[in-house]
Amino acid sequence: MRAEFPGFRLGNVLATSFTATLTERHGDAVERIPTPHRLVDWLAVNGLAVDSCTTAQLELARELRESIHAAATAAALQDALPASAVQVINDRSAQGRAAAILTPEGKRRWRLSSASRVEDALGVIAADAISVISGERDGKLALCASPTCQAAFFDTSRSRTRKWCDMNTCGNRQKKARFNAKQRRNSGSAE
Ligand SMILES: [Zn+2]
Repeated sequence: MRAEFPGFRLGNVLATSFTATLTERHGDAVERIPTPHRLVDWLAVNGLAVDSCTTAQLELARELRESIHAAATAAALQDALPASAVQVINDRSAQGRAAAILTPEGKRRWRLSSASRVEDALGVIAADAISVISGERDGKLALCASPTCQAAFFDTSRSRTRKWCDMNTCGNRQKKARFNAKQRRNSGSAE
C-alpha cells in the first residue's frame, strides 16, 4: 500500500498524518494533496475512501488541515489555542456523519453517509484532532526538531522523547547532516 502512494507519510495518528500532507513547512514546502484526486488517494489509504472530491471539498480539507496544524502547534508549545482554528475543527467535526463500524474481525471501520461525502471523512479527522489536542489520548504533542519542518507530531513513545515527526525523513536527514558536519571537521583538522 505504501509503495503505491509515494509521498504520503502514514503515521499511526490520523490527525497528524493529515497535517503531514504539507511537508517542510519552514523550508521548501511540499503540497502532497495538490489536487482533489490526491486527497481521494490520501483518504483511501487512511481508511476513509470516497469516490469523488470537488475543488470546494479540497479547500475545506486544506482549511481543516491548517487549523489542526495551528492548534496542535499551540498545544505542543502550551500556548492558548487559536480561536479561529478551534472553530474550524469544531465545525468540521459537527458536520461529519461518519459511523464507526465494528467488523466481524474486531476492527474499526468508518462508514460514510455517502461515498461523495468528503465532509464525513473530514469529520473523522477533526474528531481525531480533538482527541489528540485535548489530551484524551495517551501521548504528547511535540514539534519536529528539524528546523525546516517543525511539524506537530504525536509522541507515543514510552519515554516521550521522540525528536522528529518521521524517522525516515526528518530523522534521517538530521543524522546525515550531523555525519557530514563531522566529516568536514575531521578533514579540516587533518590539513
Ligand atoms: Zn519533521
